[in-house]
Amino acid sequence: MTNCIFCKIKDGEIPSAKVWENENFFAFLDINPVNPGHTLLIPKKHVDYLFELDDGVYHELFKAAKEVSVPLKRAVGAKRIGVVVEGFLVPHVHIHLIPINGPGELDAKRAGKADPNELTAIAERIKDAF
Ligand code: AMP
Ligand code: ZN
Repeated sequence: MTNCIFCKIKDGEIPSAKVWENENFFAFLDINPVNPGHTLLIPKKHVDYLFELDDGVYHELFKAAKEVSVPLKRAVGAKRIGVVVEGFLVPHVHIHLIPINGPGELDAKRAGKADPNELTAIAERIKDAF
């Protein structure tokens, strides 16, 4: 889709702190993380709403989430990786994969703008943990 920020990110037209990609999916760090390592996982094909995905893409998306969660958890030393799906700000399907260490940490009100250099450093640590 031409005017979609996440389509532009996966096409490399807008820079991002990429952590992983395969043929159909792309993962990068959220610029307003709730916790360090807050990752967004998207299908490369533009679809607005999670439950409009074809079954095959839907299952592959959650398989990819599981695959990314392991190095992400290891890289930031979190107790768990929490999962959030909203999509009110960016209508391109994305799963928020958020490192958490206790209840309540998924609250979006905790989000704050990250230093771009810090995002690059965290993305490198996650890539190294695959
Ligand atoms: P939502 O659509 O409500 O699930 O939220 C969209 C998320 O995308 C927010 O957490 C934003 O901080 C994040 N976001 C928006 N633009 C960018 C970008 N250029 N790079 C990384 N994350 C972004
Ligand atoms: Zn898109």
